[in-house]
Amino acid sequence: MKTKAAVLYEAGQPAVIEEITLDAPRQGEVLVRMQAAGVCASDLHVREGIIPEPLPIVLGHEGTGIVVEVGPEVSSLQTGDRVVLTLVPACGTCFYCNRGEPHMCLTSGTMAARGVLRDGTTRMRIGNRTLYHFNSVSCFSEYVVVPQEGAVKIPHDVPVEIAALLGCAVVTGVGAVERTAGVRPGESVAVVGCGGVGLNVIQAANLSGAYPIIAIDIRDDKIEIAKTFGASHGVNAREQDAVAAVLETTEYGVDWAFEVLGNPRTIEQAWELIRPRGTVVVVGLSPKGSRVSLPAFDFISEKNIRGCFYGSSRFHADVPVIIKRIQAGRMRIDGMVSHSVPLEELESAFSRMRSGDGLRTVLQFSGEDS
Ligand SMILES: [Zn+2]
Ligand SMILES: [Zn+2]
Repeated sequence: MKTKAAVLYEAGQPAVIEEITLDAPRQGEVLVRMQAAGVCASDLHVREGIIPEPLPIVLGHEGTGIVVEVGPEVSSLQTGDRVVLTLVPACGTCFYCNRGEPHMCLTSGTMAARGVLRDGTTRMRIGNRTLYHFNSVSCFSEYVVVPQEGAVKIPHDVPVEIAALLGCAVVTGVGAVERTAGVRPGESVAVVGCGGVGLNVIQAANLSGAYPIIAIDIRDDKIEIAKTFGASHGVNAREQDAVAAVLETTEYGVDWAFEVLGNPRTIEQAWELIRPRGTVVVVGLSPKGSRVSLPAFDFISEKNIRGCFYGSSRFHADVPVIIKRIQAGRMRIDGMVSHSVPLEELESAFSRMRSGDGLRTVLQFSGEDS
């Protein structure tokens, strides 16, 4: 079939919106008509060449849609199911899946690195030219083919703007607090970066009973929004020395500093924010090849630094629970989306991200409703 998609041919160049050929789903795969897709920093980083990916590629790794066709041997989904897509379609049989760490799935990692689906091929092309999949999702496209493990069924009444953010921003931010860190009541938290993921870190830290929760950003408007998601304090790092401000609030530094930007300099700064025995959780994805330098003497104070990928999530277990929490009014996603635009405005979303304007942009697809 033909579908309209955003194709990135060359890093540093705009993605081209055009009609591509999408093959039918093969064994264990489903065809999904997209309803909405969130634009995440990782998409921008590939667009800029900071994260290398096989090219040309169709970006997008956070979205929601309707299953419109199932391939052979699909058992978990049916036509008509509403789904959220995941960038880690865990295989269930590799070393990490067997250890109960499905977010580290080796099979998914290989697929992501090579830009292919499980059989080693892609479903997308333009003319004779192969187009690669981005993390097995590639949802900046009206239709996508994904592995059945890459789609989780959700209720039909979840608003598209909420469902669109579940696949990356929400599970990453909430998981970083609840799964990677395991923040305890009364512990202190600083969050460096108050975009889509950062707001979810703040929200989850608040639900975990953390206090104080210090939101650090360089924009006052984002700090104000962060306070509506549970931040107790805000620091504008452009106007104030963030380290001094955090020490003033917490005396010895925070128990947990979440770095959400993926910037080696702010990771080093986060190290200064934690108390002895505190922990930096690195949620943001830094440019490949970049390095972090830490004062080695500080290890005498039992300071810790910990990586975090995809919120250490167990996607198929976590998403249904997060939806229940949202529906019960215990969590909220509304207020995290600042712009809802058609696919054609992807580049304007990237421009806003570069300048730090707004929060999440959601691309809305104008398919038939169901
Ligand atoms: Zn993302
Ligand atoms: Zn696996």
